[in-house]
Amino acid sequence: MATVIDTLQARPRHPEKQNRPETPLLRKPEWLRVRAPGSAGYNDTRDIVRSHGLTTVCEEAACPNIGECWTQKHATMMIMGEICTRACAFCNVTTGKPNPLDPTEPTRVAEAVATMRLKHVVITSVDRDDLDDGGAAHFAAVVRAIRQAAPDTTIEILTPDFLRKDGAAEIVIDSAPDVFNHNLETVPRLYLSIRPGARYYNSLRLLERVKDRDPRRFTKSGLMVGLGEAKEEVMQVMDDMRSAGVDFLTIGQYLQPTRRHAPVDRFVHPDEFAAYEAIARAKGFLMVSASPLTRSSHHAGEDFARLKAAREALEAR
Ligand code: SF4
Repeated sequence: MATVIDTLQARPRHPEKQNRPETPLLRKPEWLRVRAPGSAGYNDTRDIVRSHGLTTVCEEAACPNIGECWTQKHATMMIMGEICTRACAFCNVTTGKPNPLDPTEPTRVAEAVATMRLKHVVITSVDRDDLDDGGAAHFAAVVRAIRQAAPDTTIEILTPDFLRKDGAAEIVIDSAPDVFNHNLETVPRLYLSIRPGARYYNSLRLLERVKDRDPRRFTKSGLMVGLGEAKEEVMQVMDDMRSAGVDFLTIGQYLQPTRRHAPVDRFVHPDEFAAYEAIARAKGFLMVSASPLTRSSHHAGEDFARLKAAREALEAR
């Protein structure tokens, strides 16, 4: 028995990366340093997450904003388990064969959202290439359960790409979340090395399909920079997103989770983020958030209010 436990504990979190060369973790510049978590609000959020048996991307992705977000009772729930079928070079979520879906999860997530009295919630998931619908029906069930348990809470979803899962995107779109987010993550040239299981045009088309099916639905997408992309490539992605009708763009600094993940090419200066933001606004996004610590779910509640206000202002012109 002891051997089994030892074996389980010894299982690497990223088996596919064990043969990759190690690269040193670069020292972070001062603008990326954050305080260690530990406030009373942080502890409350952690207790609610634990008591409802929830998984959060805040912890799984080792997000640098966890101290700030959890203090404000803002956590991003990760559904469909903790094990992902993809093996992206930037991501800290465990890779492997996932467990079966838990049919009680929609209720548990909805109860947690109601208990926390959240104005806005972000729900994301691992990739479930092992399921016929990529987990779309389960994702939709979670959205519906939250609507029922917490009707005043606005819902933002951050979905997988549903690659080769015909009809899956439509199931999720029809659950009518307030915001449909799918991150393009990086520029197309880097997909093979950074996001090898995904296809750039599939992800772009997913965002476009949301708008085709429901033009009033807000769409959102994000990019990490500092992976070796050129500024011109980032601007081309912005144009692609605008062609797909994306309303809200987020851009943040890539941080290397371990020595075997993709290395940071460089730390992008805050002034460059400000320049990206100005360019993106000029290209017509309703909302842009670009800073070193921007993550797709960072300040999502406040940003959603701004997003709605921006659309209303545009329509009132
Ligand atoms: S930015 Fe998102 S993932 Fe990071 S701690 Fe905040 S809610 Fe969690």
